[in-house]
Amino acid sequence: MPDTLLALNGLDAHYGDFQALFGVDMEVHAGEVISIIGANGAGKTTLMRSITGLMRNTAEQINHLGQPIGRLRADQVAHRGIAMVPEGRQLFPSLSIEENLLVGGKVGRTGPWSLSKVYDMFPILAERKGQKSMSLSGGQQQMVAIGRALMANPDLILFDEISLGLAPVVISDIYKALPDIIGEGMTAMLVEQDISRALQVSSRVYCLQEGRVSLEGRTGDVSRDDITAAYFGVT
Ligand code: ATP
Repeated sequence: MPDTLLALNGLDAHYGDFQALFGVDMEVHAGEVISIIGANGAGKTTLMRSITGLMRNTAEQINHLGQPIGRLRADQVAHRGIAMVPEGRQLFPSLSIEENLLVGGKVGRTGPWSLSKVYDMFPILAERKGQKSMSLSGGQQQMVAIGRALMANPDLILFDEISLGLAPVVISDIYKALPDIIGEGMTAMLVEQDISRALQVSSRVYCLQEGRVSLEGRTGDVSRDDITAAYFGVT
C-alpha cells in the first residue's frame, strides 16, 4: 500500500449548532485521484473546507504526512502543500490574471510550477495576462483558479466542482488538462456533479450522504447501482 498522504479520522464539522459532517474516515495515498460525490448539501464542500483549514476541527481529525493538521490556519495548510480550486473560482476580480496567479506563488513553496508553465498549459491566459479577471469568461476564470492553485506547488490539490456553470466544450478542455496537472506527481481530490466524468479520471470514489460516507471503493469495483443507492440513500 502506498504512503498515506492525507487521513481523515472521524472528521466532524459544524456550522454553529448544525452538524454537516459526522465521523468521516478517509485515506488518500500519494499519486491517487479521488472523487467525492454526493447530492447537494451532502457535505462535499464542507469536507474540502475542513481539509484546507477553513473550518474548526480537532488536530487529530486531519493528518497530513503523519502530522495532525486539523487546527492549522488556511495559510499554514497551504504552506504544507494542500491547495484548493474553490467552487465559484473566488478570484480577486480587480486584479489581473497574472496578479491572481502570483497570489498562489506567495505560499512560498518550490516545485515545478511557475507562471510560464501555467501559461504553457493555458495559452489563453498568457495572451490576456494583463486583463482583470472579472472581464474573463467562466472557463478562463476557472483556468486562472487552477493556475493559482498550481502556483502554490502543492502535493495535494482539491478541486471543488470545477465544471459547475461552464459550457460543455470548456469542461472538456479543462478535463483534458487534468492529466498534465496530476501527472506532475500530484495527488488530487475532486468534487464533481458529473459522476461519469469523475469516475473516468479517478481511481477511487467516496460518496457522501447527509454528512456521512455512504460508499467507498475503487472506481472499477463499484457499480452504477451501488452509486445510485449511496447517492440518493435508496436501497
Ligand atoms: P453542494 O453540492 O450544494 O455544494 P455540498 O455537498 O458541497 O453541496 P456543503 O456545502 O458542504 O454541501 O453543505 C453541507 C451542509 O451544510 C448543507 O446542509 C448546508 O446547508 C450546510 N451549510 C453549508 N454552509 C453553511 C453555512 N455557512 N452555514 C450554515 N450551514 C451551512
